[in-house]
Amino acid sequence: MRLVGLLGGMSWESSAEYYRLANELVRERVGGLASARLLLHSVDFAEVERLQAEDRWDEAGALLATAAAGLEAGGAELLVLCTNTMHKVAPAIEAAVSIPLLHIGDVTARAVRAAGLVRVGLLATSYTMEQDFLRDRLAGHGLTVLVPDGGDRAVVHRIIYEELCLGVVTEESRQAYRDVIARLVAAGAEGVILGCTEIELLVDQSDADVPVFPTTRLHVEAAVDAALADD
Ligand code: GLU
Repeated sequence: MRLVGLLGGMSWESSAEYYRLANELVRERVGGLASARLLLHSVDFAEVERLQAEDRWDEAGALLATAAAGLEAGGAELLVLCTNTMHKVAPAIEAAVSIPLLHIGDVTARAVRAAGLVRVGLLATSYTMEQDFLRDRLAGHGLTVLVPDGGDRAVVHRIIYEELCLGVVTEESRQAYRDVIARLVAAGAEGVILGCTEIELLVDQSDADVPVFPTTRLHVEAAVDAALADD
């Protein structure tokens, strides 16, 4: 089993899910007392969030590149960046290491295509919904990506940063997300990507009439597949 390097803390609420799911999956697949071989570098999210808000992405990229190099030096054979948003700086991270980065956009797009879908809604932070780094990656796999309108994007973004990243899950916000999903479906979405690693703490398949694609779970499944390949 390969040692997987997790670049997390963005936020730790979702990194905890990566840790739990990876261990559950290895136990399911290998059996007995088997558990995932993981190395975690968990950053201070307040620092990363400040760099995002101040549009200092190069500095955020440098911070994560240094952390990634540390994971490689510690023996990680594969890198998993536990956030969709920070894949904006994936090129800086990849340039700092020689181990592969398992890109969350590739993993998600493959799952959507495997389900036979092409036109998908994207729920994520405003950075991810409004900029092209993840949408282009998904489009590169042949997907057409729909994002909510401006008002809905603001609601989705606010709930991520002011609630989910702080461990706050409310029925009111769940209903707000259900409403945004329904509007994406009405606009033609055949499926919905939960494109922020905290969103699956709030909603799941039961909150949508179309297939949902939870990026944390999909990312962990792909990481475990890679870690166990050829064993
Ligand atoms: N975890 C979130 C994501 O998947 C948002 C937090 C962040 O900005 O990294 O995009």
